[in-house]
Amino acid sequence: MSVTLDEMFNYVKRLCEAIGPSGREHDVRGIVIDLVKDSADKVWVDTLGNVIALKRSRSGSSKLMLAAHMDEIGLFVTHIEDNGFLRVQPIGGIHERSLAFQRVLVKTRDGRVYRGVIGLRPPHVAKPEEARQVPEIRELFVDVGASSKDEVKGMGIDVGDIVVFDRDVIRLSTSRITGKAFDDRVGLAAMVKAFQIVESSDVDVYLVATVQEEVGLKGARTAAFAINPDIGLAIDVTLANDVPGTPPHEWCASLGKGPAIKIADGRSASGIIVHKEIVDKLIEIAKRLNIPYQLEVLPGGTTDASVIQLNREGVPTGVVSIPTRYLHSAVEVVDLNDIVNTVKLIKGFVESITTDWVKSLRGVEVK
Ligand SMILES: [Zn+2]
Repeated sequence: MSVTLDEMFNYVKRLCEAIGPSGREHDVRGIVIDLVKDSADKVWVDTLGNVIALKRSRSGSSKLMLAAHMDEIGLFVTHIEDNGFLRVQPIGGIHERSLAFQRVLVKTRDGRVYRGVIGLRPPHVAKPEEARQVPEIRELFVDVGASSKDEVKGMGIDVGDIVVFDRDVIRLSTSRITGKAFDDRVGLAAMVKAFQIVESSDVDVYLVATVQEEVGLKGARTAAFAINPDIGLAIDVTLANDVPGTPPHEWCASLGKGPAIKIADGRSASGIIVHKEIVDKLIEIAKRLNIPYQLEVLPGGTTDASVIQLNREGVPTGVVSIPTRYLHSAVEVVDLNDIVNTVKLIKGFVESITTDWVKSLRGVEVK
């Protein structure tokens, strides 16, 4: 079954325009359930809110966990000023540099959605050195068009409500698109599509749309404990720094050159060094199926794979990454060809691996 750019554009548009910062993934969860239910043998939502869909294998003797996160970065409302402005604090790694003067959506606890903008003292009244600096989060405020605290309260907005970027997903060219929450809803779109079109496999496939990745890989941790997989594969985005002013040795990945097969990320205890056999297998599959690919060694950041790998006695876990420019901003850019090729690589992996091979990775007796 072939996958088209238009089809993936529609999946990405539907998933990315939904509001779902960490811990408030409810709207995204509904879409994922809708997209996977017809191709799964069983679908459930666990305690933290992960969506888990199971597709049973021919033999059923080993378990593959696929993971991509549903949550996006955002803000919590922390305070309402007397004159109706909202003060905020970050949910996940949202950077002040990408926040000032953006349009946002504010969602209340009872589900009402309002438009707002993030304001800051304009350069005309700022001191010259202040105008050059990145504003701190405490200097920013959200303007929802209200003139008093009572008016804001009357709208149903309160402390703890959520704020995300207000962006449609649009095409910049035939294959390049821009929007918010590409991290990781483009990975989610690719995982869901691959799950739908997998024809048969020798391993049980557990698709996990995870929660709270941006605040510490939390959903993946509890889901891995519950599923107890024999092997894992996370699908997330990676840095494409192939832009002016960045030398090629700092690009990490380039747009349009295919999914990146991760070798390692992070430089500390929180990162992952991917099991060598998994890297080799992904490369072998990409070559056999003529899927373009890149190799990724990322200087910082990590993915759900890091906690899956450390579940119980250890789980060999790989990562397939979709190159993305301007990560964690409201104008992330990806190439639809990379998403289509990621779908093909995930499908190829699921259909190629055997229970015997998976068992061969689970440790050997040497005496
Ligand atoms: Zn991510």
